[in-house]
Amino acid sequence: MNLSRYMIENIKYKPVTFFFVWFTSFTFFITPLLGALLVREIFIQLEGLVTVEVNIWFFVVALFVVNVFQIIFDVIWAILMNIFFMSLRLLFRRNMINGLYAQYGANPPPYPPGEAISRFRQDASEAAYFPVAMADLLNFFLFGLVSFLIMLSINSEVTIFIFLPFIFVIVLVNAFRKRVSLYRSERRKATGEVTSTIREIFSSIQSVKVNNAERNMLKHFEQKNNKRAQAAIKDEFFNSLLQATRTLIVYLATGIMFLMISEPMLAKEFTIGDFALFQYLLNWVTGFISYVGGSIARYHRTAVSYNRMTKLMRGRKESIPEKDIVQFAPLYLKTPFPPRTIPVKKSKDHMKSIKVKNLSYHYPDSDKGIEDISFVLQRGTLTVITGRVGSGKSTLLKAFLGLLPSTGTIWWNDNKITDQSIFRPPRTAYTPQVPHLFSDTIKDNLLLGLPDNSEQMQSAIKLAVFKKDLEEVEDGLSTLVGPKGKKLSGGQQQRLAAARMLLQESELKVFDDLSSALDIETEQKFWERLFQNNKDHTFLVVSHKPLVLQEANQIIILKKGKIEASGTLEALLNTSPEMQRLWEGKIEIDNYGIQDSS
Ligand code: ATP
Ligand code: MG
Repeated sequence: MNLSRYMIENIKYKPVTFFFVWFTSFTFFITPLLGALLVREIFIQLEGLVTVEVNIWFFVVALFVVNVFQIIFDVIWAILMNIFFMSLRLLFRRNMINGLYAQYGANPPPYPPGEAISRFRQDASEAAYFPVAMADLLNFFLFGLVSFLIMLSINSEVTIFIFLPFIFVIVLVNAFRKRVSLYRSERRKATGEVTSTIREIFSSIQSVKVNNAERNMLKHFEQKNNKRAQAAIKDEFFNSLLQATRTLIVYLATGIMFLMISEPMLAKEFTIGDFALFQYLLNWVTGFISYVGGSIARYHRTAVSYNRMTKLMRGRKESIPEKDIVQFAPLYLKTPFPPRTIPVKKSKDHMKSIKVKNLSYHYPDSDKGIEDISFVLQRGTLTVITGRVGSGKSTLLKAFLGLLPSTGTIWWNDNKITDQSIFRPPRTAYTPQVPHLFSDTIKDNLLLGLPDNSEQMQSAIKLAVFKKDLEEVEDGLSTLVGPKGKKLSGGQQQRLAAARMLLQESELKVFDDLSSALDIETEQKFWERLFQNNKDHTFLVVSHKPLVLQEANQIIILKKGKIEASGTLEALLNTSPEMQRLWEGKIEIDNYGIQDSS
């Protein structure tokens, strides 16, 4: 999609506001034209070159009124322009966020946070200002055209001479446009790297300290800063050079114009009024020439910004169309955000069975992953995935839940699934191995926007064996946790995440290894209560705990990303050496026999 198409979409988003932005900008340009004509008239009157005499003060007052109007319209323009510009910028940001959320959840974001933030900040601003700048350009052009015609009618020779540099400037800027966008995108990239480094420094203070790496870290930071400084100087220097050349050429032409008009002035062919008009318009005309030059550069910078924004928005999902960056969406500027829509379970969400065939995923540039995994989950059963450390258990769950771009076929009941995003409540709920807590209260971390039902919450807390932890923290449910709050232990985090999951309505519950969450005693309680309370529910669980393995209706053993064996515990203990090893707890640390204790 090209820039003009994007611009049309932008204008369609807020057409009325945009029209008034254009109109107030138009009046801003009309006023100097009127002013110029009035000034000319004043001098003509003063020189006594007219037959009808009008009181000079009439023109003076008119000139004053015209200027007051210009100020008023300018203020209105500033207000409307900001409404238009900020709404559009917010829309871009919203669309980028939307794209980020459509990514595969377990894939890292397409760019590091600093880099992403610079796209949200600078690129969104650059692109949002573009339609405003183009409206100005159009008005500048109309104004320039009319000025040109007026000046032409007064003295064609001089006029043409003023407008000649205009062509030269356009040729000049066009010749360097590639460099303009290259320097700009290098500068943005370097800025993003600095922001990322700052973030990294803050999040790794402990590692830096224990490794005595302060000096190296500072050196690294300095390198990034130097790179940014160089890129910024290049960009700034080049832009200033272009700008200076533009101005220089224009002033040179103006100087020559002054030399040119001396003779006609002496011969009274060029009156003082004409001179005043030329002088008055000249500032604006030279401004116009600069603006055209600047606009060409702006056009290329905006193209770079759109490119960067769409890349962030689409990430690894090629299926997201580029034009989604300008798609319309409500922004809720005046009304509060709508509450979270709680999905209602429909009859087709009722699960009888899930069939998985040839599920595969490989991490990029790595042979690690899972391959050709097939299994069936029946309603009301417990399926346990087990295997050594690094055998691909978590990867399997993520690939199954659509959090990684896997291949293979999955059927929900007998319906083939085309969009794995159905693996969410009210169909499925998932507790990852390393759950994420937000910097917020325990309560909000549990609810995540669900309506506050204390009975349900208490039962989920009890079920997840989180009750005792809650009694131990100072402010109970109002305790702040997460990166900026109280640090919970790994086990506490897992129990909280499990309670959060149990609050979600779901047919299939997926747990990834709650081993650090529960000691043997509580574990027994946890699973007993869970199965008791949700007899009809289906569980897919990663575990190597004997207790869970004993309860399982089927066990899937993974080895190097493939199914090594599957079946009931009894059958596997008889037939699978891998199961026997796991059962006897002989495999302590991973890596395929390297550190087998046997
Ligand atoms: P654990 O018992 O430690 O939880 P797991 O069975 O869940 O291990 P996975 O996390 O699925 O193992 O990882 C399977 C393999 O893929 C491992 O060898 C791991 O090193 C590798 N792996 C995991 N994540 C990535 C990644 N983002 N990029 C490349 N390789 C990865
Ligand atoms: Mg794992």
